Amino acid sequence: TREVHLVRRPQGWPVPEDFAVVETELPDPGADQVLVRNTWMSVDPYMRGRMNDVRSYVPPFALGAAMDGGAVGEVVASGDEAVPVGATVVHQAGWREHALLGARHLRVVDAEAVPPQAWLGVLGMPGLTAYVGLTRVAEVRPGDTVFVSGAAGAVGSVAGQVARELGAGRVVGSAGSPEKCAWLTEELGFDAAFDYHDGPVARQLRDAAPDGVDVYFDNVGGDHLEAAILRMNDFGRIAACGAIASYNEEQPPPGPRNLMMLVSKRLRVQGFIVTDHGDLAPEYTARAATWVADGRLRTRETVHEGLDEAVTAFLDLMRGGNLGKMLVRLG
Ligand code: NDP
Repeated sequence: TREVHLVRRPQGWPVPEDFAVVETELPDPGADQVLVRNTWMSVDPYMRGRMNDVRSYVPPFALGAAMDGGAVGEVVASGDEAVPVGATVVHQAGWREHALLGARHLRVVDAEAVPPQAWLGVLGMPGLTAYVGLTRVAEVRPGDTVFVSGAAGAVGSVAGQVARELGAGRVVGSAGSPEKCAWLTEELGFDAAFDYHDGPVARQLRDAAPDGVDVYFDNVGGDHLEAAILRMNDFGRIAACGAIASYNEEQPPPGPRNLMMLVSKRLRVQGFIVTDHGDLAPEYTARAATWVADGRLRTRETVHEGLDEAVTAFLDLMRGGNLGKMLVRLG
Protein backbone atom coordinates (compact mmCIF):
# COMPACT_ATOMS: atom_id res chain seq x y z
CA THR A 1 0.00 0.00 0.00
CA ARG A 2 1.10 3.60 -0.40
CA GLU A 3 1.04 6.87 1.53
CA VAL A 4 2.15 10.46 0.98
CA HIS A 5 4.94 11.87 3.14
CA LEU A 6 6.06 15.43 3.69
CA VAL A 7 9.81 15.24 3.10
CA ARG A 8 10.74 18.94 3.33
CA ARG A 9 9.03 21.98 4.81
CA PRO A 10 7.87 24.27 2.00
CA GLN A 11 9.16 27.83 1.85
CA GLY A 12 6.38 29.98 0.47
CA TRP A 13 4.49 28.08 -2.20
CA PRO A 14 4.88 24.29 -1.83
CA VAL A 15 6.44 22.39 -4.73
CA PRO A 16 6.04 18.69 -5.65
CA GLU A 17 9.58 17.99 -4.37
CA ASP A 18 8.38 18.74 -0.82
CA PHE A 19 6.37 15.48 -0.92
CA ALA A 20 6.95 11.80 -1.72
CA VAL A 21 4.66 8.85 -2.37
CA VAL A 22 6.05 5.96 -0.31
CA GLU A 23 5.36 2.19 -0.37
CA THR A 24 4.65 0.55 3.00
CA GLU A 25 3.52 -2.85 4.29
CA LEU A 26 -0.20 -3.42 4.57
CA PRO A 27 -0.71 -4.09 8.30
CA ASP A 28 -3.06 -6.68 9.85
CA PRO A 29 -5.59 -5.24 12.28
CA GLY A 30 -5.04 -6.18 15.92
CA ALA A 31 -7.82 -6.58 18.49
CA ASP A 32 -10.12 -3.50 18.41
CA GLN A 33 -8.46 -2.28 15.20
CA VAL A 34 -10.03 -1.68 11.83
CA LEU A 35 -8.39 -1.77 8.41
CA VAL A 36 -9.92 0.68 5.96
CA ARG A 37 -9.43 0.94 2.22
CA ASN A 38 -9.67 4.66 1.59
CA THR A 39 -11.90 5.58 -1.34
CA TRP A 40 -11.80 9.39 -1.07
CA MET A 41 -9.50 11.85 0.63
CA SER A 42 -9.82 15.53 1.26
CA VAL A 43 -7.29 18.25 0.60
CA ASP A 44 -7.90 21.40 2.64
CA PRO A 45 -6.25 24.81 2.96
CA TYR A 46 -5.48 24.33 6.68
CA MET A 47 -3.00 21.60 5.66
CA ARG A 48 -0.67 24.32 4.39
CA GLY A 49 -0.26 25.60 7.95
CA ARG A 50 0.57 22.09 9.14
CA MET A 51 3.48 21.93 6.69
CA ASN A 52 5.25 24.65 8.71
CA ASP A 53 7.02 23.78 11.93
CA VAL A 54 4.80 26.09 13.94
CA ARG A 55 2.57 25.34 16.90
CA SER A 56 -1.08 25.98 16.14
CA TYR A 57 -4.45 24.46 16.87
CA VAL A 58 -3.32 21.31 15.03
CA PRO A 59 0.21 19.93 15.30
CA PRO A 60 2.54 20.24 12.29
CA PHE A 61 2.99 17.27 9.95
CA ALA A 62 6.09 15.27 10.87
CA LEU A 63 8.77 15.01 8.20
CA GLY A 64 9.21 11.56 6.68
CA ALA A 65 5.85 10.27 7.93
CA ALA A 66 2.43 9.92 6.35
CA MET A 67 0.45 13.14 6.35
CA ASP A 68 -3.14 12.97 7.57
CA GLY A 69 -6.49 14.58 6.98
CA GLY A 70 -10.12 13.77 6.33
CA ALA A 71 -10.89 10.59 4.37
CA VAL A 72 -13.70 8.19 3.64
CA GLY A 73 -13.20 4.48 3.15
CA GLU A 74 -14.59 1.00 3.26
CA VAL A 75 -13.82 -1.39 6.10
CA VAL A 76 -11.92 -4.43 4.75
CA ALA A 77 -11.01 -6.12 8.05
CA SER A 78 -12.22 -5.44 11.55
CA GLY A 79 -11.39 -6.52 15.08
CA ASP A 80 -14.39 -4.55 16.39
CA GLU A 81 -17.93 -5.81 15.92
CA ALA A 82 -19.39 -2.27 16.02
CA VAL A 83 -17.58 -1.58 12.73
CA PRO A 84 -18.49 -4.37 10.29
CA VAL A 85 -16.59 -5.23 7.13
CA GLY A 86 -18.14 -3.30 4.25
CA ALA A 87 -19.16 -0.29 6.38
CA THR A 88 -18.40 3.19 5.06
CA VAL A 89 -16.38 5.18 7.57
CA VAL A 90 -15.03 8.71 7.94
CA HIS A 91 -11.75 9.32 9.73
CA GLN A 92 -8.60 11.45 9.80
CA ALA A 93 -6.08 9.04 8.27
CA GLY A 94 -6.11 10.40 4.74
CA TRP A 95 -3.14 10.81 2.37
CA ARG A 96 -2.85 6.99 2.19
CA GLU A 97 -4.53 4.13 0.39
CA HIS A 98 -5.19 2.05 3.52
CA ALA A 99 -5.61 3.15 7.10
CA LEU A 100 -5.30 1.11 10.29
CA LEU A 101 -7.31 2.72 13.05
CA GLY A 102 -8.74 2.13 16.48
CA ALA A 103 -12.53 1.95 16.24
CA ARG A 104 -12.93 5.13 18.30
CA HIS A 105 -11.00 7.08 15.65
CA LEU A 106 -13.59 6.48 12.95
CA ARG A 107 -17.27 7.07 12.44
CA VAL A 108 -19.62 4.80 10.49
CA VAL A 109 -21.71 6.92 8.09
CA ASP A 110 -24.73 6.48 5.90
CA ALA A 111 -23.53 6.00 2.33
CA GLU A 112 -26.99 5.21 0.93
CA ALA A 113 -28.73 8.58 1.10
CA VAL A 114 -25.74 10.59 -0.08
CA PRO A 115 -22.55 9.76 -1.99
CA PRO A 116 -19.84 8.86 0.55
CA GLN A 117 -17.61 11.81 -0.33
CA ALA A 118 -20.36 14.20 0.81
CA TRP A 119 -19.08 13.45 4.34
CA LEU A 120 -15.87 15.27 3.39
CA GLY A 121 -17.74 18.27 1.99
CA VAL A 122 -21.26 19.51 2.46
CA LEU A 123 -22.12 17.11 5.31
CA GLY A 124 -18.61 17.12 6.75
CA MET A 125 -16.09 19.57 8.14
CA PRO A 126 -16.43 22.29 5.45
CA GLY A 127 -20.22 22.35 5.66
CA LEU A 128 -20.20 22.49 9.44
CA THR A 129 -17.64 25.31 9.25
CA ALA A 130 -20.05 27.36 7.15
CA TYR A 131 -22.91 26.68 9.58
CA VAL A 132 -20.92 27.45 12.73
CA GLY A 133 -19.58 30.68 11.24
CA LEU A 134 -23.02 31.91 10.24
CA THR A 135 -25.02 30.82 13.26
CA ARG A 136 -22.89 30.73 16.39
CA VAL A 137 -20.20 33.20 15.35
CA ALA A 138 -21.81 35.84 13.11
CA GLU A 139 -25.37 35.25 14.32
CA VAL A 140 -27.00 35.91 10.95
CA ARG A 141 -30.45 37.48 11.26
CA PRO A 142 -33.33 37.64 8.81
CA GLY A 143 -32.83 40.46 6.34
CA ASP A 144 -29.04 40.71 6.80
CA THR A 145 -26.80 41.37 3.82
CA VAL A 146 -24.14 38.65 3.94
CA PHE A 147 -20.83 38.81 2.06
CA VAL A 148 -18.88 35.57 1.60
CA SER A 149 -15.35 35.54 0.17
CA GLY A 150 -13.90 32.39 -1.35
CA ALA A 151 -17.53 31.82 -2.22
CA ALA A 152 -17.06 29.14 -4.88
CA GLY A 153 -15.06 26.87 -2.57
CA ALA A 154 -16.17 24.09 -0.24
CA VAL A 155 -16.96 26.29 2.77
CA GLY A 156 -17.97 29.44 0.90
CA SER A 157 -20.45 27.80 -1.47
CA VAL A 158 -22.28 26.25 1.47
CA ALA A 159 -22.06 29.46 3.52
CA GLY A 160 -23.80 31.56 0.87
CA GLN A 161 -26.64 29.08 0.41
CA VAL A 162 -27.11 28.43 4.12
CA ALA A 163 -27.17 32.19 4.76
CA ARG A 164 -30.13 32.39 2.41
CA GLU A 165 -31.86 29.49 4.21
CA LEU A 166 -31.33 31.35 7.49
CA GLY A 167 -33.17 34.35 6.10
CA ALA A 168 -30.45 36.62 4.78
CA GLY A 169 -31.91 39.42 2.68
CA ARG A 170 -29.04 39.65 0.24
CA VAL A 171 -26.11 37.27 -0.34
CA VAL A 172 -22.99 38.45 -2.14
CA GLY A 173 -19.96 36.34 -3.03
CA SER A 174 -16.47 36.91 -4.38
CA ALA A 175 -14.45 34.32 -6.28
CA GLY A 176 -11.53 34.02 -8.66
CA SER A 177 -13.07 33.50 -12.11
CA PRO A 178 -16.09 34.42 -14.24
CA GLU A 179 -17.10 30.74 -14.37
CA LYS A 180 -17.16 30.58 -10.59
CA CYS A 181 -19.19 33.79 -10.33
CA ALA A 182 -21.71 32.50 -12.88
CA TRP A 183 -22.12 29.32 -10.84
CA LEU A 184 -22.83 31.38 -7.71
CA THR A 185 -25.51 33.57 -9.22
CA GLU A 186 -27.05 31.22 -11.79
CA GLU A 187 -27.12 27.96 -9.83
CA LEU A 188 -26.58 28.68 -6.14
CA GLY A 189 -28.90 31.65 -5.78
CA PHE A 190 -26.37 34.29 -4.73
CA ASP A 191 -27.86 37.74 -5.43
CA ALA A 192 -24.54 39.06 -6.75
CA ALA A 193 -21.00 37.83 -7.28
CA PHE A 194 -17.78 39.43 -8.46
CA ASP A 195 -14.37 38.26 -9.61
CA TYR A 196 -11.78 39.86 -7.35
CA HIS A 197 -9.36 40.02 -10.29
CA ASP A 198 -11.66 42.53 -12.01
CA GLY A 199 -10.79 45.50 -9.81
CA PRO A 200 -10.46 46.64 -6.21
CA VAL A 201 -12.58 44.53 -3.85
CA ALA A 202 -13.84 47.63 -2.05
CA ARG A 203 -15.32 49.11 -5.22
CA GLN A 204 -16.82 45.83 -6.43
CA LEU A 205 -18.29 45.15 -3.02
CA ARG A 206 -19.89 48.61 -2.90
CA ASP A 207 -21.60 47.91 -6.23
CA ALA A 208 -22.71 44.41 -5.17
CA ALA A 209 -23.95 45.49 -1.72
CA PRO A 210 -25.10 49.10 -2.11
CA ASP A 211 -26.82 49.08 1.30
CA GLY A 212 -23.70 47.80 3.08
CA VAL A 213 -22.82 44.48 4.67
CA ASP A 214 -24.16 43.15 7.99
CA VAL A 215 -22.26 39.87 8.09
CA TYR A 216 -18.91 39.09 6.48
CA PHE A 217 -17.85 35.43 6.28
CA ASP A 218 -14.10 35.79 5.72
CA ASN A 219 -12.23 32.98 3.99
CA VAL A 220 -9.58 35.17 2.40
CA GLY A 221 -8.28 37.97 4.67
CA GLY A 222 -6.04 40.68 3.18
CA ASP A 223 -7.71 43.09 0.78
CA HIS A 224 -11.06 41.31 1.18
CA LEU A 225 -11.10 41.89 4.92
CA GLU A 226 -10.10 45.53 4.56
CA ALA A 227 -12.82 46.08 1.94
CA ALA A 228 -15.43 44.35 4.09
CA ILE A 229 -14.59 46.50 7.11
CA LEU A 230 -15.00 49.57 4.90
CA ARG A 231 -18.45 48.40 3.71
CA MET A 232 -19.79 47.00 6.99
CA ASN A 233 -22.90 48.51 8.49
CA ASP A 234 -22.93 49.58 12.15
CA PHE A 235 -23.01 46.62 14.55
CA GLY A 236 -21.95 44.24 11.74
CA ARG A 237 -20.35 40.88 12.56
CA ILE A 238 -17.34 39.31 10.90
CA ALA A 239 -16.77 35.55 11.16
CA ALA A 240 -13.00 35.14 10.69
CA CYS A 241 -12.85 31.67 9.18
CA GLY A 242 -9.63 31.75 7.18
CA ALA A 243 -7.13 33.96 5.39
CA ILE A 244 -6.04 31.95 2.39
CA ALA A 245 -4.54 35.00 0.65
CA SER A 246 -1.62 34.81 3.09
CA TYR A 247 -1.07 31.05 3.58
CA ASN A 248 1.74 30.79 1.03
CA GLU A 249 3.32 34.19 1.63
CA GLU A 250 6.74 34.13 3.28
CA GLN A 251 6.09 37.68 4.48
CA PRO A 252 2.39 38.07 5.29
CA PRO A 253 0.99 41.37 4.00
CA PRO A 254 0.19 44.03 6.60
CA GLY A 255 -3.28 43.72 8.08
CA PRO A 256 -6.29 45.90 7.27
CA ARG A 257 -5.38 49.57 7.57
CA ASN A 258 -8.85 50.55 8.70
CA LEU A 259 -9.19 48.74 12.02
CA MET A 260 -10.31 52.01 13.62
CA MET A 261 -13.60 51.36 11.83
CA LEU A 262 -14.18 48.44 14.20
CA VAL A 263 -14.58 51.12 16.82
CA SER A 264 -16.58 53.70 14.92
CA LYS A 265 -18.95 51.09 13.47
CA ARG A 266 -19.08 48.96 16.65
CA LEU A 267 -18.15 45.84 14.69
CA ARG A 268 -17.56 42.40 16.16
CA VAL A 269 -14.82 40.23 14.65
CA GLN A 270 -14.59 36.68 15.92
CA GLY A 271 -12.28 33.91 14.81
CA PHE A 272 -13.36 30.31 15.23
CA ILE A 273 -12.17 26.75 14.68
CA VAL A 274 -14.81 24.28 13.61
CA THR A 275 -13.52 21.49 15.83
CA ASP A 276 -14.55 23.48 18.92
CA HIS A 277 -18.16 23.31 17.75
CA GLY A 278 -18.76 19.61 17.18
CA ASP A 279 -21.87 19.91 19.35
CA LEU A 280 -23.59 21.63 16.40
CA ALA A 281 -22.84 18.75 14.01
CA PRO A 282 -26.05 16.72 14.61
CA GLU A 283 -28.23 19.83 14.18
CA TYR A 284 -26.33 20.88 11.06
CA THR A 285 -26.22 17.49 9.34
CA ALA A 286 -29.95 17.01 9.92
CA ARG A 287 -30.79 20.42 8.42
CA ALA A 288 -28.24 20.14 5.62
CA ALA A 289 -29.46 16.68 4.60
CA THR A 290 -32.97 18.12 4.11
CA TRP A 291 -31.67 21.12 2.18
CA VAL A 292 -29.61 18.83 -0.05
CA ALA A 293 -32.54 16.46 -0.62
CA ASP A 294 -34.80 19.42 -1.50
CA GLY A 295 -32.26 20.79 -3.96
CA ARG A 296 -31.91 24.01 -1.93
CA LEU A 297 -28.30 23.29 -1.04
CA ARG A 298 -26.30 22.47 -4.15
CA THR A 299 -22.74 21.28 -4.39
CA ARG A 300 -20.02 20.63 -6.93
CA GLU A 301 -16.82 18.66 -6.68
CA THR A 302 -13.49 18.91 -8.44
CA VAL A 303 -11.92 15.45 -8.45
CA HIS A 304 -8.34 14.28 -8.99
CA GLU A 305 -7.76 10.57 -9.50
CA GLY A 306 -5.39 8.46 -7.42
CA LEU A 307 -2.87 8.99 -4.64
CA ASP A 308 -0.23 10.10 -7.16
CA GLU A 309 -2.43 13.13 -7.89
CA ALA A 310 -3.03 14.07 -4.25
CA VAL A 311 -0.23 16.64 -4.09
CA THR A 312 -1.34 18.14 -7.41
CA ALA A 313 -4.87 18.39 -6.02
CA PHE A 314 -3.61 20.20 -2.95
CA LEU A 315 -1.48 22.65 -4.97
CA ASP A 316 -4.35 23.21 -7.38
CA LEU A 317 -6.68 23.97 -4.46
CA MET A 318 -4.35 26.69 -3.21
CA ARG A 319 -4.34 28.23 -6.70
CA GLY A 320 -8.12 28.15 -7.05
CA GLY A 321 -8.35 25.20 -9.46
CA ASN A 322 -11.47 23.92 -7.72
CA LEU A 323 -15.13 24.64 -8.21
CA GLY A 324 -16.77 23.47 -4.98
CA LYS A 325 -15.01 20.84 -2.90
CA MET A 326 -11.57 19.59 -3.98
CA LEU A 327 -11.28 15.81 -3.58
CA VAL A 328 -9.02 12.92 -4.47
CA ARG A 329 -10.61 9.62 -5.46
CA LEU A 330 -8.48 6.66 -4.41
CA GLY A 331 -8.46 3.15 -5.84
P1 NDP B 1 -11.81 26.26 -0.88
O1 NDP B 1 -12.58 25.14 -1.48
O2 NDP B 1 -12.45 27.58 -0.72
O3 NDP B 1 -10.46 26.39 -1.69
C1 NDP B 1 -9.59 27.44 -1.49
C2 NDP B 1 -9.96 28.61 -2.43
O4 NDP B 1 -9.29 29.78 -2.02
C3 NDP B 1 -9.51 28.41 -3.85
O5 NDP B 1 -10.46 27.68 -4.58
C4 NDP B 1 -9.32 29.83 -4.36
O6 NDP B 1 -10.49 30.19 -5.10
C5 NDP B 1 -9.27 30.68 -3.08
N1 NDP B 1 -8.04 31.48 -3.05
C6 NDP B 1 -6.76 31.06 -3.15
N2 NDP B 1 -5.92 32.10 -3.07
C7 NDP B 1 -6.67 33.21 -2.94
C8 NDP B 1 -6.38 34.61 -2.83
N3 NDP B 1 -5.13 35.06 -2.83
N4 NDP B 1 -7.41 35.47 -2.72
C9 NDP B 1 -8.69 35.02 -2.73
N5 NDP B 1 -9.04 33.71 -2.84
C10 NDP B 1 -8.03 32.82 -2.93
O7 NDP B 1 -11.27 25.81 0.55
P2 NDP B 1 -12.17 25.53 1.83
O8 NDP B 1 -13.56 25.82 1.52
O9 NDP B 1 -11.81 24.21 2.38
O10 NDP B 1 -11.61 26.62 2.87
C11 NDP B 1 -12.00 27.99 2.71
C12 NDP B 1 -11.41 28.81 3.86
O11 NDP B 1 -11.95 28.35 5.09
C13 NDP B 1 -9.91 28.71 4.00
O12 NDP B 1 -9.41 29.98 4.39
C14 NDP B 1 -9.74 27.73 5.13
O13 NDP B 1 -8.51 27.87 5.78
C15 NDP B 1 -10.91 28.08 6.00
N6 NDP B 1 -11.37 27.03 6.90
C16 NDP B 1 -11.47 27.34 8.23
C17 NDP B 1 -11.97 26.44 9.13
C18 NDP B 1 -12.10 26.84 10.55
O14 NDP B 1 -12.40 26.01 11.39
N7 NDP B 1 -11.90 28.10 10.87
C19 NDP B 1 -12.35 25.07 8.70
C20 NDP B 1 -12.27 24.87 7.27
C21 NDP B 1 -11.78 25.81 6.41
P3 NDP B 1 -10.55 31.48 -6.08
O15 NDP B 1 -10.52 30.95 -7.46
O16 NDP B 1 -11.82 32.11 -5.71
O17 NDP B 1 -9.34 32.32 -5.78
